[in-house]
Amino acid sequence: GLTRRSASRPLASLTVLSGPSGVGKSTVIQELRAHHSDLWVSVSATTRKPRPGEVHGVHYYFVDDAEFDEMVERGDLLEWAVFAGNKYGTPRAPVEARRAAGVPVLLEIDLQGARQIRRNSPDARLVFLAPPSWDELVRRLVGRGTEAPEVIERRLAAAREELAAEEEFDVTLVNTDVKTVCQQLVALTRSS
Ligand code: 5GP
Repeated sequence: GLTRRSASRPLASLTVLSGPSGVGKSTVIQELRAHHSDLWVSVSATTRKPRPGEVHGVHYYFVDDAEFDEMVERGDLLEWAVFAGNKYGTPRAPVEARRAAGVPVLLEIDLQGARQIRRNSPDARLVFLAPPSWDELVRRLVGRGTEAPEVIERRLAAAREELAAEEEFDVTLVNTDVKTVCQQLVALTRSS
């Protein structure tokens, strides 16, 4: 079954994708989920409210604060962090089951989460998704139009911090073209 691990088969790779808010991570993830089923993209739990079009169990598990805290206490999360006032975390069991079954796993998480994975899973490969330029990033973030001004401010502050952390990552991919980035990511998850 999915949870049994053959002694002869090594764990499939674990790849972390991080990058500033607005860099286009969710577009990349959407493309991967639609066209690259040989790579499994983890579904995070979050206390954030769903945006229009977001589906529980597909884009996130939308939970309340108490439910999230219970997951933390039970040790159910591989990593978790507070981002722009909401909690986000990676459910541990599905990630371990996929890797044991030979399916490469991708986590799309923030910088704090990437640092936890670096400590907890030293075999993970950390990939930084960079914008073509800072101006382009600001334009994308404001142009999305889904967030209140103070939320955009918080996300820009986080983005500045995330851009400065690029050197902590193993690989940088510049997001000029979504399909190219997806192909590069899939190639990385096969080679690691
Ligand atoms: P958004 O609210 O725009 O969907 O996500 C906000 C930030 O939370 C993004 O940087 C995203 O990568 C990050 N994020 C999403 N899921 C997780 C998670 O499970 N853990 C951590 N640490 N960050 C996450």
